[in-house]
Amino acid sequence: MRAALVILCLLGVSSPLQPAQPDWKNLEPETLRYFQDLVRFDTSDPPGHEAPAAEYLKRVLEQAGISVEVFALEPGRPNVVARLKGSGRKRPLLIMGHTDVVNVDPKKWTYPPFSATRNGGYVYGRGAVDDKDNVTAALVTMLTLKRLNVPLDRDVIFLAESGEEGTTRVGIKYMVEEHWPAIDAEYCLAEGGNVTRVDGKVKFGSVQTLEKIPHAIELTARGPAGHGSVPLRSNAVAHLAAAVAKVAAWKPPLRLNETTRAYFKRLAAISTPAEARRYLDVIGADPKRTAAADEYLLEHEPRHASMLRTSVSPNIIQGGYRVNVIPSEAKATLDVRMHPDEDHDRFLQEIRKVIDDPAVEAAFVARDIRPGTASASLETVGFKAVEAALIREYEATVLPTMSTGATDMSYLRGKGMQCYGIGPAIDVEDGPKGFGAHSDQERILEAELHRFVRFQYELVLDVARPK
Ligand SMILES: [Zn+2]
Repeated sequence: MRAALVILCLLGVSSPLQPAQPDWKNLEPETLRYFQDLVRFDTSDPPGHEAPAAEYLKRVLEQAGISVEVFALEPGRPNVVARLKGSGRKRPLLIMGHTDVVNVDPKKWTYPPFSATRNGGYVYGRGAVDDKDNVTAALVTMLTLKRLNVPLDRDVIFLAESGEEGTTRVGIKYMVEEHWPAIDAEYCLAEGGNVTRVDGKVKFGSVQTLEKIPHAIELTARGPAGHGSVPLRSNAVAHLAAAVAKVAAWKPPLRLNETTRAYFKRLAAISTPAEARRYLDVIGADPKRTAAADEYLLEHEPRHASMLRTSVSPNIIQGGYRVNVIPSEAKATLDVRMHPDEDHDRFLQEIRKVIDDPAVEAAFVARDIRPGTASASLETVGFKAVEAALIREYEATVLPTMSTGATDMSYLRGKGMQCYGIGPAIDVEDGPKGFGAHSDQERILEAELHRFVRFQYELVLDVARPK
């Protein structure tokens, strides 16, 4: 039996236990071609217009003999689903990426934003790290599994969804509510994680297991209108300004969960002694040390401070129209990123208490809201496989992460799917230089794109092949 397996492997024929190895060197130019082609579709959302990218994916998958289904709530905004059948012994694995991108200001770009220009080891373009990297990796994984005829114990489902950047009703929301059987799976892999490099060296790998939920609260201050020459203590602008200042200075209480506790603990293990002290203090039981560490993070590491609480950022303020008129109304909008288990009504009450002014009303207003969910488990076969793959490919310490921003995974987690956010290696220095996701410009290291494809393929193989 063993001898037969060896012979099969030598012949390059896959056996259930030892699938043939992909020819990674030859896959690189092909990967790059798909990636550049995808970046070159201008799928800025709004308006989205993902159809050409979706048609492209459909064509590439079908040419490889993989059947494809397309689901669209609105014309021009389709979602693409493809499936490789497994034996059915285990429930499916979903691998996904969104085809839309955030808008661009072309003047800010060295190379045109949809040119996918290669220079100095990078590929430049909107979507380079959000999220055409994940779409490409999932695509190449599907093609490779198909070509090598890899036996699978579970279906592997590919989803390229539209509308992630603010119009989920045409994308993941629509798929979950109207076409659930097409994407129902035990696990999903999507954006939201990455591998962080410092000075060109891998520091740690983040796996997103939870995310904060975006909400919006509007403050409205009202008072009598009047002549600007007669100042009033009831001036709506003055009341609104005071309310905004109070909310901005407020420190909502700290909250921890399985993901953030593990995150800070593991981060402490790879940090300098001073940093480690703070990370352990902030999750520790000594209220004085916790408060001091929190204060430091609020000042110097705002992303970490946000992970530790439901956060509030006053981002829009409107009031007044003439210099000589006291306006009767002024409004501010707060970007509220809630911990998934936060009690909405209680939080609103807290905000009202902080403002403590009967002239200022606070209320939730409409936003592209995603469901709040429990954390993906750190104890599943899926998480352990992600962790093992990160260690194998990157030799990275693995940090489970709650992202402060939102992804489409919250809809899937809301249905009970165990979702893990992954992503390519990114230089920590690149974001502040203006090359990160949603930045003025966006780029990816070519070598890291290829490495991410290998990582994702090996990970999918590990989760889906017979054992
Ligand atoms: Zn994204």
